Amino acid sequence: MTGTCRSCGLEQLEPVLSLGDMPLANGLLTEEQLGEPEPTYPLDVAFCPRCTLLQITETVPPEVIFRDYPYLSSFSELGNARDCVDSVLAARQLGGDSLVMEIGSNDGCLLQMYAEQGIPVLGIDPAENVAPVAEKCGVPTICDFFGRDLALRLREEGRRADVIHANNTFAHVADLNGVVAGMGAVLKDDGVIVIQVPYVRDLIEHTEFDTIYHEHLCYFSVTALDNLFCRHGLELCNVAHLPIHGGTLRCFVRKPGGGEPPRRVRALLRQEARLGMCDLGFYRDFAVRVAALRNHLVRMLSALKQGGASIIGYAASAKGTTLLNYCGIGRETLDYVVDRSTVKQGRYTPGTHLRIEPPEKVLADMPDYALLLAWNHADKILAAEAEYRRRGGHFIVPVPTPTVI
Ligand code: ZN
Repeated sequence: MTGTCRSCGLEQLEPVLSLGDMPLANGLLTEEQLGEPEPTYPLDVAFCPRCTLLQITETVPPEVIFRDYPYLSSFSELGNARDCVDSVLAARQLGGDSLVMEIGSNDGCLLQMYAEQGIPVLGIDPAENVAPVAEKCGVPTICDFFGRDLALRLREEGRRADVIHANNTFAHVADLNGVVAGMGAVLKDDGVIVIQVPYVRDLIEHTEFDTIYHEHLCYFSVTALDNLFCRHGLELCNVAHLPIHGGTLRCFVRKPGGGEPPRRVRALLRQEARLGMCDLGFYRDFAVRVAALRNHLVRMLSALKQGGASIIGYAASAKGTTLLNYCGIGRETLDYVVDRSTVKQGRYTPGTHLRIEPPEKVLADMPDYALLLAWNHADKILAAEAEYRRRGGHFIVPVPTPTVI
């Protein structure tokens, strides 16, 4: 028993998995920082038997994580954002006197799609390095953490939202109840909140343990989200289960009394209850499967090294930090990591200190194997590296079961 539930406040969480002490997943290092002590924090996962929320127990101060955030969303999220925006535009009449807000708006790529149609937008993001990028694209951005206080201030200024987006930021929120209360306060009575979160069912069933890192405080089921929103007088009105990022929920939330009863939501709640997702039993063997995956991968890589193979990492992703550090895979195994983000190139991976190189190095060096550290982008990466594979290079996909392709 450990910790206090981030959603309902229960003080008796059940431990599910411990990944040990970890550096920050996006804490890439400069060459100078390699010689300095690197902070690590425990990465333990626990289950709340009352509201069913799976969560990590440690909260790294958000100021430490999000003030200089290397992840620019338009690098990988454009297709998903387009699809999300289209689904809202198809369902609602928005125009020049509407307002669309996004919490965790990053470089503004989603809001820009509304702005281009003359719909007023407002981004909110605490990262000081991305807000100027968004402003340049015509997305006004408040550089701050969203919560009750900011929401009330906006409301007093008469700024209330027809649509509030939170795309893959909801799991990052330390003050979950403050953010949901704030959303309720700033939302128009007939407005809609659209959130996207990784689905905990896919995380558990597909052993996607590398999606667990300190930025991701919570791992949501529909049941856990339903409990959270109900507490703040809001209701889930529709939920879609999408295949992106290894399994994502796109949830539409409204103030009660707005139209058809949410039949689809009730069906998903019943399905989760049938699968046992509301009980600890569903999560119990996860730790065993994660340890088995580690042993399998480490054995596979060491056999390849003993056979004289050269291996690199592909994508300096946050997932990669969890995978490499938990499995103890570092410089003895991988020569370097490639990533197409120029922000990351020339830096070093957290904990394992592998140098990040541009992807052009793959064809120049022709390593025998590339360990894929962003399996959620496997289709795009395999297409981009078709020539590497044609010339005899192989990818190792580590999750859900280590596989050479
Ligand atoms: Zn709880």
